[in-house]
Amino acid sequence: MVAAEGMPFVKTGGLADVIGALPKALQALGVDVRVMMPKHRTVKEQYEDALETLATTTLQLGWRQKYLGVQTLRKDGVEYYFIDNEDYFMGPVYRGGDAENEQYLYFCKAVCEALALIDFTPDVLHLNDWHTGMVPMLLKTQYGGRQNGGRQDAAPTRNSYEARTLFTIHNIQFQGKMDFRTMKDMLSIPDYYYTPEYVEADGCANMMKAALVFSDRISTVSPNYAHEIMNAYFGLGMEGILSARRQDVSGILNGLDEVAFDPAHDPALAAPYDAGDLRGKLVCKRDLCRQFGLGGAGGGQSPHAPIVAMVSRLTAQKGFDLVRYALEELLTTEDVRFVLLGSGDRPYVDFFNYIAGKYPGRAGVYIGYDEALAHRVYAGADFFLMPSQFEPCGLAQMIAQRYGTLPIVRETGGLVDTVAPYNRFTGEGTGFGFATFNAGDMLAAVRLALSVYRDKPAMRKLRRNAMALDNSFARSAEQYLALFRAMR
Ligand code: ADP
Repeated sequence: MVAAEGMPFVKTGGLADVIGALPKALQALGVDVRVMMPKHRTVKEQYEDALETLATTTLQLGWRQKYLGVQTLRKDGVEYYFIDNEDYFMGPVYRGGDAENEQYLYFCKAVCEALALIDFTPDVLHLNDWHTGMVPMLLKTQYGGRQNGGRQDAAPTRNSYEARTLFTIHNIQFQGKMDFRTMKDMLSIPDYYYTPEYVEADGCANMMKAALVFSDRISTVSPNYAHEIMNAYFGLGMEGILSARRQDVSGILNGLDEVAFDPAHDPALAAPYDAGDLRGKLVCKRDLCRQFGLGGAGGGQSPHAPIVAMVSRLTAQKGFDLVRYALEELLTTEDVRFVLLGSGDRPYVDFFNYIAGKYPGRAGVYIGYDEALAHRVYAGADFFLMPSQFEPCGLAQMIAQRYGTLPIVRETGGLVDTVAPYNRFTGEGTGFGFATFNAGDMLAAVRLALSVYRDKPAMRKLRRNAMALDNSFARSAEQYLALFRAMR
């Protein structure tokens, strides 16, 4: 498994959580998983003494001679290989611009070289996001790897360069786009590859494009998003190659860390609870009201009114333009309380500060990032609003469900795969949904949720359904394993 970041070594986003959890879940299924990543500063600072050096050599990258060290460490039962080059990896994990492109062009080349320096022959190389995007192409064009449509029998892999490649898209917004010259200057690839059939997209060299052309299989982090990115609105230039290869594309949902997010054993909560006994959730709701100064329907601290909450990065992707449009109408026409925990873009911060000032007792706002507070919000709220514009997988709605808080989502990406909208005829569902990215439709979905809140048995049933969902990494790992097997 190859990636730019991974827990517990370095994390800037959700990719690191997947790279942290998936290897262990696969190992539990009997798979021998190794993880390869750059030796970032945090690795050097915290693990230098424990690292064992396997090899040191020099890489030729265009006119450059670059140092390459391969170091290894066993942690929590998983073997990690680190690509060591302090020039590239002692600074920020992502340097931005061409400096970042150069970091990860080096990384791709170094990964290919390192495969021959470690004592392990993988059957499958699982490559993640654009930072690893050139590996399949380099293997196939420079290291004698199998060509697409080549040897498909089940013969064992003879060397690492014959490994099958799976490329997983965690975020299609970032593709590793650069000037042709930048890539040519680093990798010795013949000119005819710089065409739309191979690495070109929109007149640029594009590392994700190269990965989508050359990897044996492609996956993304939810089945629905796998379909969506075959259209231009979501595909951001990659829809052509993705639809041409639709037979090779699959979607596998990310899992939740079910130990870290467990209302029955969560040290952040005022009281524990589970699906069988929800009394603790009411204690958590009171606690949340107190913390955010929310008055209940009957005044004081009474928690009769429903709480709609959000925990999110404050960006357009998460649907905050709809919230900005509709929140005041909601607060002034319904008996509802609103809680927001988030940080991000200025216009949204300003808006929520205005809301907090204008509707004290009805709306509570905390601008910032606070893990423990997030847990208390998930536990204390009744509904979790997530009206995303697009959402590759989404974790927050799964956390909310595990805490018995019903998500109200825009039906896009992974939100479609993880939230079953309430069906008023059968009473089934694990949340609420609306289809069109429109503030009126969002309001209607929230109002439907509030009407169900007043129907206690219906509400109890939905909470139980949500809490009974299996969003574990064990389930994701089984699907990855099935995919790896299909690639042999
Ligand atoms: P994304 O990765 O696109 O931000 P996800 O829903 O996949 O969205 O994951 C977001 C994660 O970050 C969730 O675990 C959520 O609880 C957490 N989070 C987001 N904003 C905050 C915040 N301000 N404070 C604490 N946790 C937050």
